[in-house]
Amino acid sequence: MRFMADAATEILPIVIAPARILKTKTRRVGPADAAAVGALLPRMFATMYHAPGIGLAAPQVGVDLAVTVIDLMPDDKPNPIALINPEIVAASAELAAREEGCLSLPGQYAEVTRPARVKVRYEDPSGARHEIEAEGLLAACLQHEIDHLNGILFVDHLSALKRNIILRRLAKERRQNPATPLSAGASAGGAGTREKALTGRV
Ligand SMILES: [Zn+2]
Repeated sequence: MRFMADAATEILPIVIAPARILKTKTRRVGPADAAAVGALLPRMFATMYHAPGIGLAAPQVGVDLAVTVIDLMPDDKPNPIALINPEIVAASAELAAREEGCLSLPGQYAEVTRPARVKVRYEDPSGARHEIEAEGLLAACLQHEIDHLNGILFVDHLSALKRNIILRRLAKERRQNPATPLSAGASAGGAGTREKALTGRV
């Protein structure tokens, strides 16, 4: 099953931190969500490729469902993976540190330490169950995206000091460059709402 979006596929606005939905655990996808997920996935892939990014979780486009998409583009070739209800079922004791960024914290990067290898169980869009074992970039990406589904951002793995430096820097950059839409939800709120959203603590 391929999810390559065509040019007509809608690009969704990406929610920027701080935002309540980025701090909220998502709902598991059930059979009643099949149509919504079917409509969401091509848009999520299109939004991720457009950003560009290598992973995107549903809360980042304002959707409260346990859905994430990943494409590491190995050898510069598309390799889209859609993961429904993914969960980490095993993680190595060995840790690995890697610089991470996030489409919801644009321009911000920090080294994050996580288990070097993970085993992830998930469903594909047809409902079939899969298990993958990952290391390296894929392991970090899977953990980053599954974190999103649990309301956790990569900065939550840092010390409070480092986290606050990054969040303040992001807020300052957003104030200085208000041309970029904050998010679909906040853009309708006017200057006061946006200021509040930007200075609110995550
Ligand atoms: Zn992210």
